[in-house]
Amino acid sequence: MTQAIEPAAGHPYTAGLAAGELRYQACDDCGAWQPLQRHACRACGSTRLGWRRAGGGATVYAVTEVARAPTEAFRALAPYTLVLATLDEGPRVMGHAEPGVEIGARVRAGFLRHGEQTLLRFQRE
Ligand SMILES: [Zn+2]
Repeated sequence: MTQAIEPAAGHPYTAGLAAGELRYQACDDCGAWQPLQRHACRACGSTRLGWRRAGGGATVYAVTEVARAPTEAFRALAPYTLVLATLDEGPRVMGHAEPGVEIGARVRAGFLRHGEQTLLRFQRE
């Protein structure tokens, strides 16, 4: 189940997180999801690409425990867990996750306010 997103200020992905929505890019002509932000559809070559709201369900593809934060802004969060998760709609996204999640686990997208940012954070379903 997908729904078109109206253009908004800022990058559609980060604007989505701030609004409590996980978004991904898909082709308006054939519907194919796009693995990264692209200018033409990977399947049909159309340049009519739009952003859609993901349902939030995903499966963990890879897990990393981060002990030392790469930037000052993330130091308060460390240690933390990062995952690559495959959304039910197909795209793979990186996000924070609750500690201890394992590869193959079913998770659901949530949103963590951190300073001026809203971070994607997965929790077990
Ligand atoms: Zn297409």
